[in-house]
Amino acid sequence: MLRYKKIFVNNQCNNNCLYCLYLQKGLLQPSFESIITEITDKEQDGIEFYGGEPTIRSDLVSILLSAKKKGFRRIKLTTNGRAFSDIHFLQSIISAGGNIFEIKLWGSNPHLHDSITQVHGSFIETLRGLDNLTNLLEEKFICIRIPVCEQNYLDLENTVAMILGFGINRIILSYSGHNLSFRKTIIHIKNAINIAILNRTWILTEGLPFCIMNGLEPHIIEIYLGWNNLGRRSFQQHKNCIDCIFRDLCPGIQSDYLKRFGEDEFLPVKDSKYFSDIKALYG
Ligand code: SF4
Repeated sequence: MLRYKKIFVNNQCNNNCLYCLYLQKGLLQPSFESIITEITDKEQDGIEFYGGEPTIRSDLVSILLSAKKKGFRRIKLTTNGRAFSDIHFLQSIISAGGNIFEIKLWGSNPHLHDSITQVHGSFIETLRGLDNLTNLLEEKFICIRIPVCEQNYLDLENTVAMILGFGINRIILSYSGHNLSFRKTIIHIKNAINIAILNRTWILTEGLPFCIMNGLEPHIIEIYLGWNNLGRRSFQQHKNCIDCIFRDLCPGIQSDYLKRFGEDEFLPVKDSKYFSDIKALYG
């Protein structure tokens, strides 16, 4: 899987999501000059702009143009997609070089999504933006990221089924804790994965270990990107890891999770038809 140079471009957002990973960190607003300096440093072929919400920066088009001029071929925006409900704005973003989009969605309906973004009307705008994107982009790559949380885990199947109609390229079910046990969520995660597979859509999980994803290991994003893709997390192995075939490839479970829920639900993986392929990926 391709890696991107990641640049934080906005500490503001037009949503106010309950579980925002970035707004809670109190990060400083980066200046236009500092962003341009980072763009100048071209180590990868792809570049990703994320926030907060990149699309509410008034100088975003200039930032994208700068990346395009520098020669980045894959220019990615991680966004809530609301601003793309304005098709003229979206056209300006695509003209400036934006060609890969990752959109965060919390649920299959306005009531659920808006209750988590805490902005009335955000669901409708995000879906309009998604519709514009799928209609406007010829060479498109659109990913939907669904963060899994206490409020939406029962709705994962509906959310995946609903977005398949947009003809998107990839779905990520992102599990980053939020005080929710794997035990409660895994059946819904597996159902959602199977719905996507049946509809020939690429789906990955984030934050779920091999022993929870047993049988669906190729859908674990960390086998391609490593285990710290969600930011700095602290992992530890537990008493059953010693008997697991993945013990040398797996960092274990997030320490906070083990403190809260214990280790009883994690049984060692004794066999996996994917083991040798996954081991080869680790090099
Ligand atoms: S090493 Fe431990 S945490 Fe990792 S998959 Fe195996 S049992 Fe699970």
